[in-house]
Amino acid sequence: MNARMLPTNPLMKITPRPEQVFVRGTGAYLFDSAGRVYLDWMQGWAVNCLGHAPGVVAEALSRQAATLINPSPAFYNQPALDLASWLVAHSCFDQVFFTSSGAEANEGAIKLARKWGKMHKAGAYEIISFVNGFHGRTLATMAATGKAGWDTLYAPAVPGFVKAVYNDLESVRALLGPHTVAVMLEPVQGEAGVIPADRAFMQGLRELCDAENVLLIVDEVQTGCARTGELFAYQQYGIQPDIMTLGKGIGGGVPLAVLLAREAVCCFEYGDQGGTYCGNPLMCAAGLAVMQTIGTPDFLTGVRQTSAALRAGLLNLCEQFGLEGVRGAGLLLALQLGRPLAREIVASALEEGFLLNAPRPDILRFMPALNSTAKEISQGLGMLEALLQRHL
Ligand SMILES: *Cc1c(COP(=O)(O)O)cnc(C)c1O
Repeated sequence: MNARMLPTNPLMKITPRPEQVFVRGTGAYLFDSAGRVYLDWMQGWAVNCLGHAPGVVAEALSRQAATLINPSPAFYNQPALDLASWLVAHSCFDQVFFTSSGAEANEGAIKLARKWGKMHKAGAYEIISFVNGFHGRTLATMAATGKAGWDTLYAPAVPGFVKAVYNDLESVRALLGPHTVAVMLEPVQGEAGVIPADRAFMQGLRELCDAENVLLIVDEVQTGCARTGELFAYQQYGIQPDIMTLGKGIGGGVPLAVLLAREAVCCFEYGDQGGTYCGNPLMCAAGLAVMQTIGTPDFLTGVRQTSAALRAGLLNLCEQFGLEGVRGAGLLLALQLGRPLAREIVASALEEGFLLNAPRPDILRFMPALNSTAKEISQGLGMLEALLQRHL
């Protein structure tokens, strides 16, 4: 089976895909229909935090699938209650709302902030987000996103969003006004090329939001769930946000995302928010298995050690090849090539059996499984060295 053998492509044209059809995955590796093996450092865009087909997720899914898949979002179910309790116990938040995608969780965050503005801040509705930020592909989250061209792609854009400059507190201050209800940001801008927020910026935002009675929303769809070496990235900044969203890693590969908020902000009333699959026990059982696995001190220590090994190897490559540098946090790291070679390197890596991502023409992004072994990290570094040798 090969996608090119089909007479016409039955899938809509949304992204140029290579011809491989992937049929199996285990841990750090994917296999295609021709039996070729690939070391995967994309892992579904930081989704498969425990690698491909992790036993704990497969087991939780099969057990729950044989027990209860969908009682209806109008009823309680045990996995949703258990996962919500786990998240509340391990974060600064008091209540959660489950969704199926990160965009939908962010959409919920935007609604919750606007509702709070209506109730507690004289109808304030405007959200300050950031140039080059990424929050999803629904109409409202596209408006929150700071990607060039996205304001006109499906015009008219949802109103109520203005863009500040990341890591520039003054640019936020300049946009604040009586209509401002929230500031929304990623602790590490992922799609922008893996740019972490400075500690002073994040702490300054918290102070500014407190002083102005504005909510602070962190989009941790990519940075949450141990990706940066803490359970949640906000914990590295010594601040407490008012609202957080999770996605990607929490499901370990299945569609699950979460909106979390502190008690004072939880102002939805019956009928304000909902969705057919919100909190379904099948996905929540997977999420609970993931969080119980990644949430232990030993696991987090392992992520930090693996991150240090990967970072050290990347820094060596920087020195060896005269590259610009390494940035990011935990196992969300990027190599700054200093020249626009990232896309051709990604293409030859695929031929070599190595899956990489280039969010920008000069940036390679690495999102390996959080439980990657030392051997897998050195295998990837070795492949990267050979690729750089060839392309530089
Ligand atoms: C991936 C991502 C989203 C969107 O999540 P989906 O599940 O694709 O809707 C939102 N915010 C950030 C920071 C992301 O990385």
